[in-house]
Amino acid sequence: VRNAEKLERLATTDSLTGLYNRRHFLASLEAEWSRFHRYYRSVSVLMVDIDHFKSINDRFGHAVGDEAIKAVANACLEGKRKPDIVGRIGGEEFAILLPETGLSPAKGVAERIRKHIAEQTVMSPDGEFHLTASIGVAEASVSMFGMDALMNAADQALYRAKAQGRNCCVSWSPPPTAKSAALLGR
Ligand code: GH3
Ligand code: MG
Ligand code: MG
Repeated sequence: VRNAEKLERLATTDSLTGLYNRRHFLASLEAEWSRFHRYYRSVSVLMVDIDHFKSINDRFGHAVGDEAIKAVANACLEGKRKPDIVGRIGGEEFAILLPETGLSPAKGVAERIRKHIAEQTVMSPDGEFHLTASIGVAEASVSMFGMDALMNAADQALYRAKAQGRNCCVSWSPPPTAKSAALLGR
């Protein structure tokens, strides 16, 4: 049984950070997405990307870059609530699954995590430094065709957070319908 547990852990976790890996994160999202689809239980996703990570690697080297990734992983774990699931889904990209959570509380969690990240100190041979990350927030909506659309929405919001100057959280909102666009234009 212990061996089976060990194998299971190896298959589901990222070795650098101890967070869930991309595959396990997506499997968890799939389960939550089907609950949303069948029972309309709300679910939200946060997409976190470290700001100017290339320059951290360039200035301090890859090993310190890895320390920075671990610091961000810890900040995500500190800021999340108990049922939330954190995955490392790319090199310096993290996703957080928030079951039973609508947009407004999801924004609250995102903001708390953003602050925790900015408070981290990372050690390098040249001394300590700080880093920041940008976060995209999206809630599942009936207008989305599948869980990929939810991930894309969080990604689009993240892209906007980068464009707005980084170190901030931005929420995805659906494109306006023709009718509401007409009303806004009036
Ligand atoms: P931005 O603020 O726009 O996100 O700028 P950025 O420099 O962070 O840009 P981007 O997100 O595209 O950069 C990702 C870089 O992260 C590319 C690669 O050199 C580095 N990277 C990816 N995975 C790892 C890793 O596992 N360890 C280390 N040390 N670096 C990684
Ligand atoms: Mg990136
Ligand atoms: Mg980045």
